[in-house]
Amino acid sequence: MVWPCPLPVDAYVAAGREVKFPRPVCPSCAGPLVVWSGYWRHVRAAGRCRKIFVPRLRCRACRVSHALLPAFVLAWRLDVAETVGAVIAEVAGGGCGVRPAAARRAVPYTTARGWVRRFRRRAPELGAGFAALAVELGADALLPVADAGRFALSGVGAAFGAAAGLPGWLALGVWRFACSVSGGRLIAANAISPYLIVGRRRFMPPVPSAPG
Ligand SMILES: [Zn+2]
Repeated sequence: MVWPCPLPVDAYVAAGREVKFPRPVCPSCAGPLVVWSGYWRHVRAAGRCRKIFVPRLRCRACRVSHALLPAFVLAWRLDVAETVGAVIAEVAGGGCGVRPAAARRAVPYTTARGWVRRFRRRAPELGAGFAALAVELGADALLPVADAGRFALSGVGAAFGAAAGLPGWLALGVWRFACSVSGGRLIAANAISPYLIVGRRRFMPPVPSAPG
C-alpha cells in the first residue's frame, strides 16, 4: 500500500521509526489495520542513498499484513518517484534520449532505460487508466494520440490536474500522485490500474482526517 506522503525525503529519513503515517483500512475487508512491525529499506534521492523505515500494518480479521510505503517510493525501485518520473517524462515525452536524462539525475543509464522500457510497454494501459481517473475526477475526456507514451503522460498529467483541485494533492506533485494512485506499481511488472474509485477507501486522501 502507498500513502500520499507529502514529507520531503529528508524529513521522512530524519523521523526514522517515529515517522507519522495514516492508518488506512484493510484493502480486503475495510476493517481496521494495526501496526504490526516494519522494516528498513534504501531509497536514492538526488544521487544519494538513504535509509527509511517502512511500517507494516496488519488486519486481524484477514491475518494479512501490508507494508505502507510513502508516495515517493515505487515498489521494488531504489530511486524516488520524482527521479523516475522526471526521466520518463523527458524521454517518453520526446524531450531527449535516455542517456542525457539519466546523466542529469545521476542514475545509471541501464536503470533509466529499464524504467522507460517498462513505461512504454505499459503505456496504452496506463494512458487508459489515468485518462479514466481524470474523467472520474471531473476532467474532460482525453483523445488518444498515436504515440502511446505521450498518451500515458498526458493521462497522468490530466488526472493530476483534476486531483489538484481536491485538498492536499497539489503539494504532492505529479509523480507522488501517480505513485499513490497506482499503489506504487506505476512501472511494476504485475501492475494494477490506477484506482478509479474516488472518495472511497481505495483513493486514500492526502489530508489526514481531523485528529481525534
Ligand atoms: Zn482485512
